[in-house]
Amino acid sequence: MEQSRKEFFKKSVLGLGVITAACESAAKGSQQIQKPLVISTWDHGKLANEVSWKMLKEGKSSLDAVEAGVMIVESDPEARTVGLGGYPDRDGFVTLDASIMDHDSRCGSVAFLQHIENPIAVARKVMEETPHVMLVGEGALQFALEQGFEKINLLTEKSKKDWEKWLEKSKYEPVINIENHDTIGMLAIDNDGRISGSCTTSGASYKMHGRVGDSPIIGAGLFIDGEIGGAVATGLGEEMIRTASAAMIVEQMRHGADPQEACDEIVDRIIRKNGGKDVPQAAFIAVDKYGNYGGGSVHKGFTYAICTNEIENTIKKAKFKLTS
Ligand code: ASP
Repeated sequence: MEQSRKEFFKKSVLGLGVITAACESAAKGSQQIQKPLVISTWDHGKLANEVSWKMLKEGKSSLDAVEAGVMIVESDPEARTVGLGGYPDRDGFVTLDASIMDHDSRCGSVAFLQHIENPIAVARKVMEETPHVMLVGEGALQFALEQGFEKINLLTEKSKKDWEKWLEKSKYEPVINIENHDTIGMLAIDNDGRISGSCTTSGASYKMHGRVGDSPIIGAGLFIDGEIGGAVATGLGEEMIRTASAAMIVEQMRHGADPQEACDEIVDRIIRKNGGKDVPQAAFIAVDKYGNYGGGSVHKGFTYAICTNEIENTIKKAKFKLTS
């Protein structure tokens, strides 16, 4: 008797759970999608958004928009942590990481790529022209050249001078700034409600030669699930790789968190895993498939740029957790 009552209770609770979940998803399913939308990391995201927003308004796909938007920053020699003019590694080589992903979970990435101004475009070629997801180093360069990309010198005079100055002390301390110039990550929703994301960087300044960060690692620096939404990261990549942070943010959203709560949870996780002390900077933006968005970071200083039909391309300060 006791047994069957328990069984009955269990079934009822399970049943209720299913009904509640069904109601929730029906409610969410009826939500209006905020589209188009584009959101990017840091102040330089505003410039990237401008390009992408125009394309989205013209009816272009989110995949095209997230590629073209970040390319502007890659090609800007003044953006010192992305593409051309990016800080080199400690041996003086500019090595780039980038990834791209769409609503159908198609993705491509390149890592430790040298001499190519727009690694995001190579990442897209990896996605579309090869049976693989990721190419690195010499192989990635060879592939890029075969695809018609031009081989150039990415180390500008300015970056060379800064590196030479750094060499005077050569203190090996990969620097992750909390100021407004870092990896560019972008998420966009197009007129068809499809979400895509991109992420591109020259990585931590004066890193060890061969070091690869989170940005080209699908699930760490970038993750998109067309059924749920997407997330992209910036900050010290080792933290994001350890916590598979972009994928975890999307999973938090799958289980009901809104984008802000999902970012907060992963920021908290990184703080906990570091014992709450000397926590490196880690920062995220996330969007769900309805166009709700959020951004969060460990330390103060992280900004992102958002553009929707209601919000003119605007830079916002993200929520942060630690004051020291
Ligand atoms: N996440 C990048 C890396 O670790 C750097 C950054 O976002 O600043 O390579």
